Amino acid sequence: MGKNGMPLDADLHAPVRIVNAEGRGPFVIVVDHASNRIPPRWGDLGLTAAERVRHIAWDPGALAVSLRLSELLDAPVVQSTVSRLVIDCNRDTDAPDLVPLVSELTEIPGNAALTADDRNWRIATAHAPFHAAIERVLSARDAAGQPSILVCMHSFTPVYKGVQRPWPIGLIHARDQRYTAALRDALAADAADLNVGWNEPYSALNGVTYTLEHHGDGNGLDATMIEIRHDEILEPNGVARWADRLARCLTEARVAIGGAAVHSGAVATGGPI
Ligand SMILES: [Zn+2]
Repeated sequence: MGKNGMPLDADLHAPVRIVNAEGRGPFVIVVDHASNRIPPRWGDLGLTAAERVRHIAWDPGALAVSLRLSELLDAPVVQSTVSRLVIDCNRDTDAPDLVPLVSELTEIPGNAALTADDRNWRIATAHAPFHAAIERVLSARDAAGQPSILVCMHSFTPVYKGVQRPWPIGLIHARDQRYTAALRDALAADAADLNVGWNEPYSALNGVTYTLEHHGDGNGLDATMIEIRHDEILEPNGVARWADRLARCLTEARVAIGGAAVHSGAVATGGPI
């Protein structure tokens, strides 16, 4: 319990959720920006309801694609349940935009007078448990002799600061690009006319690869970061279409870098996309 006997948010809603923790497929999917939930302690951060459902608060559709992929690939999914406006779990704890003062062009009033205590509280109650959960899942698999490829799933807005983004999907790598390059090749083979962004709409140079580097490269794992444009997944059949395509291509890319062709997960076998 917190001061004045009020329950802390941690008592009400866990900051991280793990789905299919025991999944035996070769992939572990993590979703840093899965939720636009602002824990009650921070009210509405001074934003309108309309602002709080915009992409500035989360990655719309990223969790839906990840959950469908989890079914297709028997993959664990680790997701944050806290908005990136409270704390961005895909940033190192000393990053200047860990708690954003402005997101795209929107000022975040509730973050304007952030105290050290508040910042530390956000790290302790949202950022740290999220990353500890990823580490737990990966370590348990490692201990059981189950190799993992880390997949960091995101979505992006079609227009950012007035600039149109042409790629339906972008792939981002950290220091080791081997698996990401194999995924790019698999996507190109799957859909020749697909404009796959390479280190678009962001790259490691923009400081957006904390989770990828911390749990992937830094852990000696093959890893990739996938960004899908919102309009692609938010159209009626978008989640199924992208999950099917990614299940095929993630698997093909794994085989291309030397993974076994058969694993315990049920891979989509086609269907119209
Ligand atoms: Zn994101």
